[in-house]
Amino acid sequence: MSRERVYLDWNATTPLRPEARAAMLAAMDLGGNASSVHAEGRAARALVERARAQVAAAVGCKPAEVVFTSGATEAAAVLTRLPVGAVEVDPTAHDCLWSQRREGQGGRALAWGYANNETGIIAEAPARDEGVPLMLDIVQAVGKVPFSFAWSGAEMAIVSAHKFGGPKGVGALIVRDGVEIAPVLTGGGQEMGRRAGTENLIGIAGMGAAAEAAARDLADGVWDRVAELRNILETALSAADHKTIFVGNDLPRLPNTLNLIAPGWKGETQVMAMDLAGYAISAGSACSSGKVRANRVLLAMGYDEGLAAQAIRVSLGPLTTEEQVLRFADVWLAQYRKALSRAA
Ligand code: PLP
Repeated sequence: MSRERVYLDWNATTPLRPEARAAMLAAMDLGGNASSVHAEGRAARALVERARAQVAAAVGCKPAEVVFTSGATEAAAVLTRLPVGAVEVDPTAHDCLWSQRREGQGGRALAWGYANNETGIIAEAPARDEGVPLMLDIVQAVGKVPFSFAWSGAEMAIVSAHKFGGPKGVGALIVRDGVEIAPVLTGGGQEMGRRAGTENLIGIAGMGAAAEAAARDLADGVWDRVAELRNILETALSAADHKTIFVGNDLPRLPNTLNLIAPGWKGETQVMAMDLAGYAISAGSACSSGKVRANRVLLAMGYDEGLAAQAIRVSLGPLTTEEQVLRFADVWLAQYRKALSRAA
């Protein structure tokens, strides 16, 4: 009999929330185009604007500052439109920001990961001179830790729905009121002229409902319990006594993320062994899994190639149970012993 699968890869993506599913199903029955002035169009428009308000409330910005996109990656691409010569990027940032770095004369901008998807480490952006625009990647923070765009001081932020229980393929660019940026996608005048193309009504409705539910969960302290489970897991795994390194556990971290280096056991091999045993975890960036290479984030943190290739990320969510994490720890410890004895 096959065992229940245990999903411990919430930073890669999260299960769809029932509220998001219901909102998407309802949106499927709306036939109008949100740009049309007739009743059908106005019904679609109302749904988009409701979702905009829900997302704004969850990230602490004004509704008019939310521009819906196909995800955080598309939102980050607006960096190509900034009238600056250089874009300086946090070396531990997600590839969608990293791919936007450039050097040149004529002003600079900063792009920073607020909560790291690999390690969960929460880092403030460095001080900057007046007039240097800042983009924050808050993809992993939204719904997990309190965050307010209004208070952050950033000019831009990027968000992705599927990291907080919404559908995949929809997200938002948050742009501070008064900051003018040329759109990446041009054509129609949708999204106040900041992102052309007929809105993804179903995805946007799902994102809005998920944002509202995520904000409620956060306020209800749901992630405090997740942090407890993460800590229980970390304590159980530390019984390995094989010099396991728990990356960033002395720094401010997301409540759900555990990144560890198991000396002598390759990250990819760990992922495969645990997958066969029924557990979904990741090595390196799950968003770019399939590409075999050392974990860039850990290299940027100063770990050498060998250690960086022996890292895994275990990321929990509100549906994770204590029984699951304890069982995971037992299986992982047994597999680690096996791997080391094979290598000996
Ligand atoms: N930023 C971070 C921190 C992420 O974890 C991800 C994950 O995919 C992204 C950006 C990109 O989001 P998307 O693939 O939804 O565009």
